[in-house]
Amino acid sequence: MPTVLRTVGEVSAWSERARREGRVALVPTMGFLHEGHLTLLREARRRAERVAATVFVNPKQFGPNEDFSRYPRDLEGDLRKCDSAGAEVVFAPEERELYPAGFQTAVEVGELSRGLCGERRPGHFRGVATVVTKLLCAVRPHLALFGEKDYQQLQVIRALARDLDLGVEIVGVPTVREPDGLALSSRNAYLSAEDRKRALAIHRGMLAAKQRVGAGGRAVRELVDLVRKSLASEGLREDYVEIVDAQTLKSLTSVSPERPSRLLVAAFVGSTRLIDNIAL
Ligand code: AMP
Repeated sequence: MPTVLRTVGEVSAWSERARREGRVALVPTMGFLHEGHLTLLREARRRAERVAATVFVNPKQFGPNEDFSRYPRDLEGDLRKCDSAGAEVVFAPEERELYPAGFQTAVEVGELSRGLCGERRPGHFRGVATVVTKLLCAVRPHLALFGEKDYQQLQVIRALARDLDLGVEIVGVPTVREPDGLALSSRNAYLSAEDRKRALAIHRGMLAAKQRVGAGGRAVRELVDLVRKSLASEGLREDYVEIVDAQTLKSLTSVSPERPSRLLVAAFVGSTRLIDNIAL
């Protein structure tokens, strides 16, 4: 089983030793691990000799009416899964270890964190950027891996690592899906069997848009409408459906084969908010 580390001092000391023997990779998570997280860990192990996972449900990235207190947790199960996926240590700090009394610093990434989830979840990316910066400073890994499932988050983290000269390589890993297309997410645990089926409308809608692009569709309005129709067909409530430049995340009015674009969707299945995205 991986060693559980509880303090910044412990994980920094582990990393300092590990760095002498090879490349160190970090995989930050909020726990309740699934195959998506394990894919990140295996990819980390492929690229580095020493792998640390973190399990921390970061209160600063949840809004006041969000699911922080009921977010699923299972450290025992996570440790077993980390073991099988090649993580040597799991940094699982208490909240007061990362945010002791008097903590008053935040990391704010500009434009990239404003639209999409940043607009619907005020303060979310400030919380993400702050905790990821702290984790990167504590561990100082050669590389850190994040999922494309959280596409805006990945771009925000790329920006902060670059802007703050953290000297870490940020690696994005493609989204892992269930065989029927549903993106794996710890929040899928909230879904009833019925909602689980309805949630497939997100992926179906994204595929319809991608197929339309393949058939020559270029107008963003038309592509977005396809997704909206799919969401509506299962009674899902849209939070946003947007097509943006894959790097800058700026809104587009048309897609073009010369410029990578990304379709991003956030929708409520009942009270559960799910996000997904796809390259067009
Ligand atoms: P979370 O525990 O939800 O904060 O996710 C931790 C990391 O796992 C983040 O980098 C996520 O983007 C990534 N991740 C979550 N779900 C998936 C998935 N289905 N496929 C790939 N990566 C994922």
